[in-house]
Amino acid sequence: MNRQRVFAGCPGSALPTGWIHDPRPTAFLDRDGVLNIDHGYVSRRQDFEWVAGAEDSIRRLGAAGYRTVVVTNQSGIGRGLYTLQDFLSVSEWMLTVAPIDAITYCPHKPDDECPARKPGTGMFDRVELVMGVRRAESFLVGDKLTDLQAAVQFGVQAWHFTGGDLGEFLRVRLAL
Ligand SMILES: [Mg+2]
Ligand SMILES: [Zn+2]
Repeated sequence: MNRQRVFAGCPGSALPTGWIHDPRPTAFLDRDGVLNIDHGYVSRRQDFEWVAGAEDSIRRLGAAGYRTVVVTNQSGIGRGLYTLQDFLSVSEWMLTVAPIDAITYCPHKPDDECPARKPGTGMFDRVELVMGVRRAESFLVGDKLTDLQAAVQFGVQAWHFTGGDLGEFLRVRLAL
């Protein structure tokens, strides 16, 4: 059975199908500002510009035994700036370009107060529920304080990426 690799992390949304609970060291990766240059509400493939070293980093993390999971606030959907289908199309394309295990998202606006929207931990909780996380061996890379807050609250290391080459950033923290 194929695993459903793109799914919402919000309470009440359908659980992704095809996963077996198998706790693994997990690299939680924010999307905008970590995997792609944050041009603001990127919703089309032609606007998606990979950060230097991002695809190779995902490959190396996988080879090093990490499950790679993108955790991304996507309030542009809730704000009506682009559609869920736009986001899903870009996500499916990302999966064809880089060996990302899963992408979980929250489409809500801040005033929806969804517990999945970072700094909430809902997306992380869902990953734990569905596939399992070995927290002590896991980490998040994020460019915003809210990413780091969510990771700390969930109980994994939180690493602040401020731009540059993601491969170099990870090499000084991991033996990749
Ligand atoms: Mg970001
Ligand atoms: Zn949500």
